[in-house]
Amino acid sequence: MKGKCSAKYILMIILISLFTTISYSVYANVNKNVDKDTQKKILIINSYHFDETWEAQIFSGIKEGLSKELKNVEYNFEYLDSKRNALDLNEVKKNFTSKFKNQNYDLIVVCNDEALMVLNQIYDEIFLDTPVVYTSINKQDLKLGENLEEHSVGVREQFLISNAISFVFKTHNDIKTMNFMLDNTVTSKIFAEEIKKLQSKYDNCKFNIIQCDYINEALEKTEGNEKNSVNFMYGVYKDENGQIIDRDTISTIVYYHTKRELYTWSESWLNSVVVGGPIIEGCKIGEITGDLCYRILNNEDVNTMYDISNSSFKYVFYYEALNNFSINMKNLPSNSVVLNHPSVLKKIPMELKATIILIIAILTLLIIILLLRIEYKNKLYKQALEYENLRTEFFANISHELRTPLNIILSTLQLNDMHLKNGEIVYKNDAIYKRMDALKQNSRRLLKLINNLIDITKIDAGYFALQYENINVVEVVEDITMSAANYIERKNINLTFDTEVEEKIGCFDQDKIERVMLNLLSNAIKFTPQGGDIFVNIYDEDKWIKITVKDTGIGIPKDKQQIIFERFRQVENLLTRNQEGSGIGLSLTKSLIEMHDGELEVKSEIGQGSEFIIRLPIKECNRKCIVDKNTINNPQEKINLEFSDIYDD
Ligand code: ADP
Repeated sequence: MKGKCSAKYILMIILISLFTTISYSVYANVNKNVDKDTQKKILIINSYHFDETWEAQIFSGIKEGLSKELKNVEYNFEYLDSKRNALDLNEVKKNFTSKFKNQNYDLIVVCNDEALMVLNQIYDEIFLDTPVVYTSINKQDLKLGENLEEHSVGVREQFLISNAISFVFKTHNDIKTMNFMLDNTVTSKIFAEEIKKLQSKYDNCKFNIIQCDYINEALEKTEGNEKNSVNFMYGVYKDENGQIIDRDTISTIVYYHTKRELYTWSESWLNSVVVGGPIIEGCKIGEITGDLCYRILNNEDVNTMYDISNSSFKYVFYYEALNNFSINMKNLPSNSVVLNHPSVLKKIPMELKATIILIIAILTLLIIILLLRIEYKNKLYKQALEYENLRTEFFANISHELRTPLNIILSTLQLNDMHLKNGEIVYKNDAIYKRMDALKQNSRRLLKLINNLIDITKIDAGYFALQYENINVVEVVEDITMSAANYIERKNINLTFDTEVEEKIGCFDQDKIERVMLNLLSNAIKFTPQGGDIFVNIYDEDKWIKITVKDTGIGIPKDKQQIIFERFRQVENLLTRNQEGSGIGLSLTKSLIEMHDGELEVKSEIGQGSEFIIRLPIKECNRKCIVDKNTINNPQEKINLEFSDIYDD
């Protein structure tokens, strides 16, 4: 019994301790994650001035890295300006104490050696216990104070000077002097020490270390000649007025003064005058620094973190400078980056280049041929248009010329008829009557043809004006149909007229509506055999009126039903057809209907007959048009004229 109890207790204790451990670790984890929305204050102490490119690049890397994770970071900057002025530690101390003594920062970032050296002096007094991340540090032997050592971590730079020197020796084995153009900054001094150490490896070449603040002094100190020496650029110099000169200008001055190849191991010195060299990218250093900053802000213990030594670099060169010094790109280390390369074409293999040139040449040739063809076609089109205009003009002139004598012939014949009726003329022979009738009919036929030609020409030229007035279209259609009734019945064809409506007033050209009807009726008569039927129907469609002319004639084949509306087109050609006509009628009819904003269509079956369907909109005329009363008013005369190409069998 006692044994069972103690087992229970042991199980309970295990469960409680398990629960406590899990809860604690969850709590610790939750707490460990930085609150992404609380504001973080970071002080960035830069060794140089505001627009110093290297430090600006490092900061952009830090900011980019942090902004992915933290929303609310306030950055404060402090510039030591050590390239322009020698550092006065007491002054800096005074300044920092007054500015930052009572400020609380979540993190301090120091950029370059000078800034770290200054912070080392003032940390305990002003920033004690604030975590620090240092970056771009070259001075390896700097002894940090105990507290700073405990609260700081950072990124140390790898020296690339030896890589830069060995690259130059690989491409120029006859170099006798290397001028290292440095200044008086801490970093320059560290580099000078490094260069001195490297000298022992290269007995045959003098490493001339130039360390000064002014450009003129630096130029004077260069040694060697154009052929056997090169310059390494790092120092930033002042002009005689003490103003800092920008790096591009310094490079240009040094180049024009010495005429020597310029190299570097610093990204800030890449420009079109400097050939290039092994480079660490500032923003890469910034990214690594940013990562350290984030870890600290995320409550990671600085004490457990280690310095990072950046060893990644690449060779970067400037195309213009390589070209300027005739340096063959084949001699550059593999994976080198060449900036400002003028054209990707150079990288394309010869065969591909030849193919591209060939394709471009063929395309150009095709385009030229195409353009020539278009020009030729345009020329032909212009000629055709000119010819068409000439033809239209000729038609217009000749039609008018023909109509005058024809009208004289027709009126003479009409006069002759009157004399016959009065008995003033008597033909002794019946055959003369028949010939006189044939003469009249053929003259009318000719007049119809000429009238149609004149109208078509006018429509083409755009000055065929309709003479609108408000008319009862039902009455007009009925009257003209009934006027043709006698004629149709004489041909032994039955005519049936029917209408759904007695009155439909709309804006129409009466003469043209009559011509449309007579044209459709004349076709129906021509193509309907004796004993057949013609139906004229009118349907009321409210805002529209529908008029149909239907026959039981020979019909129109399906494939010809559209072309009959084209000018001069007939179902049968001249040699095979057995009815007279010019092929203008339907084209003119369709134009006249469309000028009234209406529609004309045909439905037809071979051997069953055809139905022409007109649809006209019913609108009111806005203003009364002056109706040209010169048109023929006698409906019988209209019928004689429009039916003139129908012959008695
Ligand atoms: P045409 O002066 O030759 O009659 P149209 O333009 O009026 O000219 O007619 C064109 C052609 O359409 C006619 O030659 C004829 O072949 C065909 N056509 C027109 N109406 C009919 C119809 N009602 N029945 C059969 N064919 C027709």
